Amino acid sequence: MALIVQKYGGTSVANPERIRNVARRVARYKAMGHQVVVVVSAMSGETNRLISLAKEIMPDPDPRELDVMVSTGEQVTIGMTALALMELGIKAKSYTGTQVKILTDDAFSKARILDIDQHNLKKDLDDGYVCVVAGFQGVDANGNITTLGRGGSDTTGVALAAALKADECQIYTDVDGVYTTDPRVVPEARRLDKITFEEMLELASQGSKVLQIRSVEFAGKYKVKLRVLSSFEEEGDGTLITFEENEENMEDPIISGIAFNRDEAKITVAGVPDKPGIAYQILGPVADANIDVDMIIQNVGADGTTDFTFTVHKNEMNKALTILRDKVQGHIQAREVTGDDKIAKVSVVGVGMRSHVGIASQMFRTLAEEGINIQMISTSEIKIAVVIEEKYMELAVRVLHKAFGLENA
Ligand code: ASP
Ligand code: MG
Repeated sequence: MALIVQKYGGTSVANPERIRNVARRVARYKAMGHQVVVVVSAMSGETNRLISLAKEIMPDPDPRELDVMVSTGEQVTIGMTALALMELGIKAKSYTGTQVKILTDDAFSKARILDIDQHNLKKDLDDGYVCVVAGFQGVDANGNITTLGRGGSDTTGVALAAALKADECQIYTDVDGVYTTDPRVVPEARRLDKITFEEMLELASQGSKVLQIRSVEFAGKYKVKLRVLSSFEEEGDGTLITFEENEENMEDPIISGIAFNRDEAKITVAGVPDKPGIAYQILGPVADANIDVDMIIQNVGADGTTDFTFTVHKNEMNKALTILRDKVQGHIQAREVTGDDKIAKVSVVGVGMRSHVGIASQMFRTLAEEGINIQMISTSEIKIAVVIEEKYMELAVRVLHKAFGLENA
C-alpha cells in the first residue's frame, strides 16, 4: 500500500464529466489498496473569470478581498470531486486550505506555505477516506484566506506530499508530460521520459508553465518523487522528475529543453554614478515593495557613470518605474529611468552543459543567423537565457529547438 497525492489541473476538472473521470481514476488507485489525497484546481477559466469580476469593481483589487474571491474556484471543485467519488461508492471528504490548515504567510496572492497540519488528513486516510483538498489556497496566522500565486495548486500538491511523506506526487494535466518545449510553438517538441530536478527547476523558473516553480522548489527540498502525467490518457508513465543524475551517456542530449517567458519587462536606470552602493539604492526600494527581480545587468562604467538594467514581472513594471522615478532617480542623480515590456526571455537548459563547451556560442550564432538581437544574457551552470524583442520569441524557440537537435534525440 502506498500513499499517493494526485493533483488535477483546471482542464482536468473543467466540467462534471471530467470530474467523474478523475473520480474513476482515483477509484482505480483505491482499488489497488492505496491511500489517495486528491488536490484540485478550479475549473479551467474560472480563476481568470473571478479576477476579472474583481477588476470590474476595483481596477487594482485589494489583495485580501481578491484572495477571498479567487479561492472560491477551488472550493467548488473539491465539493464536486468529493460528490463524484461518493457516487462511485467511495468515502470522500473535501477540505479547503483553512480546513486542513495550510498555514501561509500573509503575502496575499503570492503567499508561501509555512506549515501543514496533517492531523485530520491522516486520520481520515486511516479511516479509508479519500481526502480532496483545495489547491492554491491557505490561511494566514490571523485566519485570512490567502492564495499561492497562479498555478499554485501544484505547490499545494507537492507540499501535501512532503508533509504526509507520500510515496509519489502525481501531477495530472492536459499534456502527457514535460516536453522539450511548448508543442504549441514547436510541433516537433518531444516528451521527456525523465528530467533531472535541477533542469526542471530551471525550466520552471525560466517560464515553462508545466509546473509552478514553487512546487519544484518544494519537491527538491523535501525530495518528493514527482511525476507529470496526462489526465486524458489511461496509460503512459508521463515524465518523472528524478534526483539522480545518471552516469553521463554519450548519446544523452546536451540540452533538455527550451523555455520561454513573455511575462517580464525590462527596466533601465541610465547614467548612474559608478560607485559603491548604487545597486543597493536602486534595488532596495524595489525589494521593499515586494517586487521580484529576475535578471540584473550592470555595464562596465565609462566616464564615471554606468547603466543598470533588470527585469521584473510585466504587471509590476509601472509600480517599479514609479518607485524609481519618485524615490531613487533624483537621489542617485540618474539620467533617466525607462521601461520596456515588449521583451521575451528564451532559455536553453541542460545538465549536459556542465561537460560540454560551446553551447553559448552555438545559441548566439543561431540567433544571429536569424538577425535576432540579444538585449541581455544570463547564465547558470546548466542554463543560458537571453532577452530579445518579444516579436521574435517564437522564431527563436523554433530555430534553437532545431539547432540543438531536440526533435529527434
Ligand atoms: N486556479 C489557480 C490558477 O488558475 C491555481 C491553479 O490552477 O493551480 O492559477
Ligand atoms: Mg497549472
